[in-house]
Amino acid sequence: AKERGGNRYEVADPAADARAITRHGLTNQLPSALRHDEFFVEYQPLIGLEDNAVLGAEALVRWSHPVHGVLGPDQFIPLAESTGQIVPLGRWVLEQAAQQAQDWRQDLQCAGRPPRINVNLSPVQLGHPDLVAEVAAVLDETGLEPTALCLEVTESALIGADEDALKPLRRIADLGVAIALDDFGTGYSNLSSLRWLPVSVLKLDRSFTRGMRQPQPDPVEVKIVEGIVSLAHDLNLTVTVEGVETRAQAEHLRALGCDTAQGWYYGKAGPADQLHKLSLADAG
Ligand code: C2E
Ligand code: CA
Ligand code: CA
Ligand code: CA
Repeated sequence: AKERGGNRYEVADPAADARAITRHGLTNQLPSALRHDEFFVEYQPLIGLEDNAVLGAEALVRWSHPVHGVLGPDQFIPLAESTGQIVPLGRWVLEQAAQQAQDWRQDLQCAGRPPRINVNLSPVQLGHPDLVAEVAAVLDETGLEPTALCLEVTESALIGADEDALKPLRRIADLGVAIALDDFGTGYSNLSSLRWLPVSVLKLDRSFTRGMRQPQPDPVEVKIVEGIVSLAHDLNLTVTVEGVETRAQAEHLRALGCDTAQGWYYGKAGPADQLHKLSLADAG
């Protein structure tokens, strides 16, 4: 759809035009969408590979757009980043997710530990001066234990980051919050940077999981995952794999020493109560 109330007119490439208008329109609509509660958060379960226990979830934001229907983050996060709107939106997601994790604490058993919540952090948020204070404020407001929170930062966001750029992350890590390196393996980062980055979790990109295809996994991919897992464990990092879609992949990745998994095999992102059903099914 065009700007609401816009004129109809003929164009050479209607699809491209619609995309351009949508992009422009969506960008303008971001601030009011946040005010009008059009965003919502879905939760994708995180599973411990050792015992298949539900450990918590990753929060993934969606936009319930009045005209376009439900939009996925790939359709609006880049726009929100380009305007800076990701800062209030990201804070809102963090608040929602932290509150949800606290609510789960009352009634969700996660292998005897407090349910964990993972929240994505945009590079734009990382560069914002209020980030550390906001994370501390959300922990304070919700009462969430810092160790129950994990902030996911993409590998590419940290490439070339100097000590100054890493300072906020270090301060957040000092609060007890875990930092995960998201989409690991896609950004060509120097493996030795793992020694000094303030991260405690590696999230292996879905492309590695895809390499665990059946009936014969790609032998080179297997070697690479083995190497990454062994290095990660030597450095005291946990390894989470994303995009697990089959039981065979799960078993293979567990055999390779991966610690935690996420993917459609266990559950897609969905409403918060999905996690209850999953953990009940797990227990029964
Ligand atoms: P991501 O952090 O890598 O999140 C994982 C994405 O993979 C999610 O897509 C998830 O639904 C999808 N996925 C999970 N399991 C499977 C699987 O088994 N197979 C396949 N094919 N896909 C799977 P989604 O929700 O569309 O999110 C896309 C990206 O948007 C995320 O990638 C993340 O980078 C970004 N994003 C989502 N929520 C937020 C947010 O609140 N803030 C920021 N800054 N970025 C966000
Ligand atoms: Ca993520
Ligand atoms: Ca990821
Ligand atoms: Ca990914």
